[in-house]
Amino acid sequence: MVQQKAEPVANSMVPVVRRIQTDKPYVFITMDDGAIKDPDAQKLIQASGTHPVLFLNQKYVKGHEAYFKAILDSSGATLGDHTIDHPDLRGKPFEFQRKEICDDADDFQRELGQRPSLFRPPFGVYDQTTLRAAATCGMRAAVLWSASVNDGNVQFQVGDKLRPGDIVLMHFRKTFTEDYNAFLAQAKKDGLTPVPLPDFLG
Ligand SMILES: [Zn+2]
Repeated sequence: MVQQKAEPVANSMVPVVRRIQTDKPYVFITMDDGAIKDPDAQKLIQASGTHPVLFLNQKYVKGHEAYFKAILDSSGATLGDHTIDHPDLRGKPFEFQRKEICDDADDFQRELGQRPSLFRPPFGVYDQTTLRAAATCGMRAAVLWSASVNDGNVQFQVGDKLRPGDIVLMHFRKTFTEDYNAFLAQAKKDGLTPVPLPDFLG
């Protein structure tokens, strides 16, 4: 048998995380894309102290840096990488994927003063190339989700309530206020406290 050498770091892949293993009553909220800039978002997030991760696309942030910077600076939110243009990355060449992910992080570092280290693939779809490209761009994990909020309703992948460790997805949409309040109400009903996701991804 020929012993395999360890993969060099350049070929490493980020781990895929769908939910956090914890027996504590914790839940995580993530907010994606950035298409609609609800003027109440900052106030709502700040007031409830949920420490969301914002997985944003540069195409939606461009020209609206002050809006997102205000949320990040006031609420303990964390910035995440979600690519420049929100493409389906599956099957795309390494260099295409690397550019989508790295340029998003580079741009946010320059324009928002915070470099993301968590990545969410658009549509939650990815391949092995995505995970390698994300590692090359300095990402620590590809973060998916285990529940989502749409049109003011929390939708569960399993059962009919939020479970400890669930990662919840919502979007910057015109229903932002309804979606956010639905998440808060559901977390409270299920006895869960929203806490910062980066603390659980070493
Ligand atoms: Zn998205």
